Amino acid sequence: MKTQGRRNLPARRSAGRRPPAPGRRRRSLYVYRFDQLGLVKRAAPTWDEVKGLLGGKGANLAEMTRLGLPVPPGFTITTEACNAFLAAGGAFPPGMWDQVEEAMRRLEAATGKRFGDPGNPLLVACRSGAKFSMPGMMDTVLNIGLDDRVVEGLALLTGDERFAQDAHRRLIQMFSTVVLGVDDQPFEAALAERRRRRGVENDADLPAEDLRALAVEFKQIAARASGRPFPADPMEQLRLAVMAVFRSWNGKRACDYRRAAGISDGLGTAVNVVAMVFGNMGEGSGTGVATTRNVTTGEPELHGDFLLNAQGEDVVSGTRGTLPIEKLAELMPAADRELRRIAGLLERHYRDVQDVEFTIERAKLWMLQTRDAKRTARAAVRIAVDLAGERRISRAEAVRRITPEQVDDFLHPQLDPEARRAARAGGALLAKGLNVSPGAAIGQIAFDADTAERWAKQEKRQVIMVRPETKPDDVHGLLAAEGVVTSRGGRTSHAALVARQFGKPAVVGALSLDVDVANRRLVVDGRTLAEGDWISIDGMTGEIFQGRLATVVPDLQDPHLRTLLSWADGFRTLGVRANADYPEDARRARELGAEGIGLCRTEHMFFQTERLPVVQRMILAAGPEERAACLAQLLPFQREDFAGLFRAMDGQSVTIRLIDPPLHEFLPDHDQLQREVTELQRKQERGEGGAALEAALAERGRVLEAVEAMREQNPMLGLRGVRLGIHMPELVAMQVRAIFEAACACIREGVDVRPKVMVPLSVDGNELKVERALLEEQAQKVMEEQGTQVPYELGTMIEVPRAALVADRIAEYAQFFSFGTNDLTQTTFGISRDDAETGFLLEYLQKGILAENPFATLDQAGVGKLMEMAVALGRGRRPGLEVGICGEHGGDPRSIAFCHRLKLDYVSCSPFRIPVARLAAAHAALAERDSRARR
Ligand code: ADP
Ligand code: MG
Ligand code: MG
Repeated sequence: MKTQGRRNLPARRSAGRRPPAPGRRRRSLYVYRFDQLGLVKRAAPTWDEVKGLLGGKGANLAEMTRLGLPVPPGFTITTEACNAFLAAGGAFPPGMWDQVEEAMRRLEAATGKRFGDPGNPLLVACRSGAKFSMPGMMDTVLNIGLDDRVVEGLALLTGDERFAQDAHRRLIQMFSTVVLGVDDQPFEAALAERRRRRGVENDADLPAEDLRALAVEFKQIAARASGRPFPADPMEQLRLAVMAVFRSWNGKRACDYRRAAGISDGLGTAVNVVAMVFGNMGEGSGTGVATTRNVTTGEPELHGDFLLNAQGEDVVSGTRGTLPIEKLAELMPAADRELRRIAGLLERHYRDVQDVEFTIERAKLWMLQTRDAKRTARAAVRIAVDLAGERRISRAEAVRRITPEQVDDFLHPQLDPEARRAARAGGALLAKGLNVSPGAAIGQIAFDADTAERWAKQEKRQVIMVRPETKPDDVHGLLAAEGVVTSRGGRTSHAALVARQFGKPAVVGALSLDVDVANRRLVVDGRTLAEGDWISIDGMTGEIFQGRLATVVPDLQDPHLRTLLSWADGFRTLGVRANADYPEDARRARELGAEGIGLCRTEHMFFQTERLPVVQRMILAAGPEERAACLAQLLPFQREDFAGLFRAMDGQSVTIRLIDPPLHEFLPDHDQLQREVTELQRKQERGEGGAALEAALAERGRVLEAVEAMREQNPMLGLRGVRLGIHMPELVAMQVRAIFEAACACIREGVDVRPKVMVPLSVDGNELKVERALLEEQAQKVMEEQGTQVPYELGTMIEVPRAALVADRIAEYAQFFSFGTNDLTQTTFGISRDDAETGFLLEYLQKGILAENPFATLDQAGVGKLMEMAVALGRGRRPGLEVGICGEHGGDPRSIAFCHRLKLDYVSCSPFRIPVARLAAAHAALAERDSRARR
């Protein structure tokens, strides 16, 4: 063994590494070599625990080593060591450094090189790596182990003076900025000055002598800024670097990121010490990053970039134009083949698409990192379907891997992938924040809510509201804007909550943005944008771009999505129906996979312009004849509405809810009417007008009187729903006639018609008994007139607590139940949604009084308990009673899972939520299957 030049490592202790004898105190292990995964598993049996102990990067480096892949040798200092170091206020735990020294000796043996030996130097990288990837948040230092003597040795040994000097200047720059906290700017300025003098564009074109001079210059910069000489002793460099990486866990950037991403502060980071391999040894070397498939489109092809004669960050920093991975086959065919072989192997091993970092040193490929790749929703679906097609994963697994949000993403406008790529390449990416509410938005920057609202509403401009953070006062701006960006705040910040709730694309916690509201400007990385400048944001990726990027419309025809959803249909047991009021909606819903209409709101049909005056006359009718005449006028309209729905839903059920809202909703606004009457009266007093005015005044006066008579303190709890049907039986009789006449006509056309008549807002069995008698009589009458039998059912909504409490008695008269969970939530909580959601509910959510907006996700503890009771009582009285849910909760994945557990028959949601509901229902069924299998 040569010892010459070995200055740093104490002589090897003779004890060796035998396992401690039983009974003796076991020393804590803080350091594991990449080839010691077996030992790691004793302390951390599951893969999740391995990642917790070694960090994701370390765990995967060890796993790749186990698989026999070309990983440079190295070792990991555990997250436990980091936590102990931080807890001790910056001191390594006892024994840790000895273990590092020991591991360094092993590394020397494995590489045949020596740390700090100019004759054959070992250099190492010191790399951070936590359990969850925190891109760019912590630190990595390359080329540790160089000093003035070792540089000369390295140059001699490699015959490449330029390479050695390049490695040296990189070490000084990286070490100074990362470990010593020196500002990067003077280093970059010195580099720029050299490039200018040489007249070259890239650092790679600087000759060795310049790099040598730069190393001297860099050391002076470092010494001046840090107040001490640049550490020459390699072991000291390593020690300082490890400490710096540990400390970077508590750096501001990392803390902010963790808070925003909901990652626990207690996890700590590991440090990976890895023998350096060199992509900067001339044109036969290089470095790159790749994903095993295209993570934008999902196409099954290796995708990535690389650079020749480069190291580390050069590829991602974007300072030099990179080459597409396809070029690798031309330039280094052997390394290319090897990379493709390994990519396939890793994908099979991890059963998912990998994101790898690699370096080629003189034609030899080295793997430096692998992890599951992040991907767009589109890519996620295609990849899951393809992997199942290749039999790498099961269909159930493919379905499980796709989140409802990813399916939802297909339904939002998205940034055109080409435009996005071009924008990234062209430097238009301003920042990246947290992706808290999906969808693309493009608009002009507005720095406050009032401006956003004014521009959007009065000037019809597209606006994106950009704020340091948002408060409840800003909601109006957010609602008017296309999307929102904040520089602070996390996933549960006000802006994130509100944006998600209203489906506005949002990026929050974009920490690099300096939102200077006072001066109406946005500063980011030295760029300044003014109010009114265009930006484009992607709420799915968290990206913020300068300018107006092209968007693409949602593509529901995507064949991979169709396949995936058809698999989901095979797993789910819950039916999925649509809320649709018009034939057009019904057809769309069917295309999206609806199995029937779960809710058709008939009152929407009354609002159409040619009908509304008739509806108003009907409501205000002086006597039964006038009302009957108006209803007769409305009948053909309604008949056509229903016939259209029946035709669109040929063979599937159509649930038609009888009129529900209080009648005043169809009449002119009270205050408006009053103003009109006062105005007319004034004119009359001034003697204007005459007979025409007289007539107008009489008419308006009559309407006002009627409206006043119908006014209720609390219309939501007033004369509406079945109460209205009982109060004004002619109205529902007309609706039933329309339904059955339409049904008979359609049957004669050969349409398979399955109407379900639904009574809203029942509170009692007797009430439903009365209403039902009326409806059945009318239905019978029409069927007899038409000489046609219609297979129909009659049921009710359960949307007030009392209905749930007496569901057994209601079930005597109802063949099906449908939970109207919006009203049920309002009446169970005793709060009105419109007032709550823009007011105190947000406060409740922020203070954590309520964990969840009960109008977005079903309140299982309260509303859910009532539902459970209603199902049990209803089915107890009428076995096989069909029970479903309509309303927005029917499209919410967690509410859908709850409906599955309640054993409802179906959920009904808006047409665009149907794909999400199909997937969520499959997830619920699969979760049940899994838990049964575990039992
Ligand atoms: P990050 O987590 O920010 O990606 P890494 O620790 O992965 O940081 O290091 C960044 C880059 O540094 C790697 O992609 C690789 O190019 C380079 N690098 C890391 N370790 C080595 C090594 N042992 N030899 C050569 N290059 C390395
Ligand atoms: Mg990396
Ligand atoms: Mg209702």
